[in-house]
Amino acid sequence: MIYVIGYEVSALIFLLVVTVHFLSKPQFPSVQNRYFLIFLICGLLDISLDILGSIAISYAHNLPIGLIYVVNTVFYALQCAFPAMLLIYVWILTGNFVFSDLWRLSLWLLPLIIGEILLMGNYWTGWFFGFDDDGQYIRGLGYTLLYVATGFYVAVTFIYIHVQKRKLSTTQYRTVLAFLLLVLTALLLQYLFPHVLLTGVAIALAFTMMYFTFQNPGELLDAMTGVFNRSGMMLFIQDQLLKRQPFQVTVLAIDEMRKLNTLFGIPAGNEAICRVADYLQHVNVRSYIFRLAGDQFAVITFSAEDCRLLREEAQQRFSEPWSLLGVDVMLSCCICYIDCDDNIENEMQVLSHIESAVPLAKSRGKGTVLEIDASTLSQAQREFSIEQELREAVENDGLEVYLQPIYSMRENRFTSAEALLRFFHPTLGMIPPDQFIPMAEKSGLIVKIDELVLQRVCRWLREYDLCAAYGLDNIEINLSAVDFLQDKLAEKVIATIEKQRVDAQQLVFEITETAATVSHQALTRTMMKMCRRGVSFALDDFGTGYANITQVVHLPFALVKLDRSMLVSSMQSGSSAIVFEDTVSMIQHLGLKTVVEGVETQEQAEMLRSLGVDYVQGYCFARPQKFEDFLELMEQQRAALQAAEPQLLAGRAAE
Ligand code: C2E
Ligand code: CA
Ligand code: CA
Repeated sequence: MIYVIGYEVSALIFLLVVTVHFLSKPQFPSVQNRYFLIFLICGLLDISLDILGSIAISYAHNLPIGLIYVVNTVFYALQCAFPAMLLIYVWILTGNFVFSDLWRLSLWLLPLIIGEILLMGNYWTGWFFGFDDDGQYIRGLGYTLLYVATGFYVAVTFIYIHVQKRKLSTTQYRTVLAFLLLVLTALLLQYLFPHVLLTGVAIALAFTMMYFTFQNPGELLDAMTGVFNRSGMMLFIQDQLLKRQPFQVTVLAIDEMRKLNTLFGIPAGNEAICRVADYLQHVNVRSYIFRLAGDQFAVITFSAEDCRLLREEAQQRFSEPWSLLGVDVMLSCCICYIDCDDNIENEMQVLSHIESAVPLAKSRGKGTVLEIDASTLSQAQREFSIEQELREAVENDGLEVYLQPIYSMRENRFTSAEALLRFFHPTLGMIPPDQFIPMAEKSGLIVKIDELVLQRVCRWLREYDLCAAYGLDNIEINLSAVDFLQDKLAEKVIATIEKQRVDAQQLVFEITETAATVSHQALTRTMMKMCRRGVSFALDDFGTGYANITQVVHLPFALVKLDRSMLVSSMQSGSSAIVFEDTVSMIQHLGLKTVVEGVETQEQAEMLRSLGVDYVQGYCFARPQKFEDFLELMEQQRAALQAAEPQLLAGRAAE
């Protein structure tokens, strides 16, 4: 018989091109990838043997019979194994393939194994193919059995992808389905036109489809850095879990990437990312590097010792400058690492643990190193639920505003108070502002929160006539740096004050030192606008930030609040005491009033009085309290002052 081999030769050339393209890319170290390569090579061999076998049959008279038998037997063996190989490939794709589960594999491959054994005996039995007395090629009953075996594996694969649909991506599912349809069509055509070789065309098409949809190594590469990307990491972890090999994932999240881009420009930011990727690729431990997100890299190691070495090396490297486009820049990064063994169920779990831990590490400050363990995860979970609950509390007016009275050293009475937020949660308990305010700032919720505080304070000022009734000068309200990012902050605040019909002079807004140094121009404009309407400003937490006093001195502050930490250290060392005294004196010389926060003892209060500090705020005088308790305290103060007044008057008359 003369075969038409033109289609098969074209298919072979086509598949060879695809194979060369595949091999020219960096090879992804996964079972799926390695298996795909084997599968691809089997495809090439299958088509080659189909061509060679057919040529051998056509020229049977001129060739040794043994050679014709060998070529065709190997071809049939491969052809027969092909659908079973597809089943194993799909099995790997779903992530269900377990290496150690050999008995399950053998069970599924049993029909194939029997078929292959029978095929090996074909030279003697002639069950599959042979030659008649005239040397003509003839097919036996076994040949039809090959079709049955192929049909069996095609059917099993078809059912399997349906049952496991959830574990495959839509592209994978559709591509495998198309693969199966191609195989079936090719078999049918081959059966109808036995002399036209077609199966290779189906194989080449199927591989090309797989290659360009989800098997392309380029899809797993990060174009900018050349390391593998997030999808690559997911595949790699899936693989390690299947192998049941313990490993560690270390995530390095570069701090303040946005700031770097703003200060030095995007090209320098990109350069930083490439430098870090390059550095990680050359760390002296057995590892695989992945770019997880814009500013995050994941490094997978295979021993706790390597993981520790990596952390130490990275910390050391980040303590030195990086040369970015000719400029030396200090970078820092938070490091989170997780030990993955039996505690991990799947790759999604690893990703979700990382996604919970990285923001937690970032919230603890630059350069934080965090082990992702049960306690970290429950902490992250708590923070996540706090954020959700906080959002709900803001919507449902569930936050409380406390007032902490501020004591005037000159008048020896409370003349002001600071509004401080409180968040009580029925199950999570009391959540301190130091915990929820940074979260609210990050999510932007702080803008709404501070608006609510302002509204509440204005309402109290108006309804209880706090200033006139209790001799208070004002109430202080905290504003966050995020508030100042709003274009129309001044207009908004003024509108609220006017709407609530409150005298603007009864309000002082506290701005932290750090906020005062960010966006200086916008801040000055907003403050000036508000000052013109009568409100005043206090510089909060003085002594904790990086404020350059010459920078803040030009801002219209009326008060400076010295942070508790300054007071505490002034009581501990002589040199800190000198700094503290000089700071108080400098503020006084600038014509600003001083408030010292966190005064807890009588001794501190006496010291502050001797320095001429104007106001003090702290537990020694009064704690932050509910509005009702604050009112009661103000009533007591009023009564005490009224009781003291006749004596004062009598004293003056005697003079
Ligand atoms: P802050 O503005 O420095 O507020 C003073 C903090 O010192 C308050 O902490 C207060 O309870 C605490 N404090 C007062 N006296 C003493 C003392 O004698 N000893 C000690 N150890 N602490 C004392 P709190 O209420 O936990 O608030 C923490 C921070 O949260 C505030 O620091 C402020 O930055 C922020 N915050 C609170 N309420 C608001 C708000 O409504 N808006 C904004 N943007 N931030 C707020
Ligand atoms: Ca404050
Ligand atoms: Ca403060």
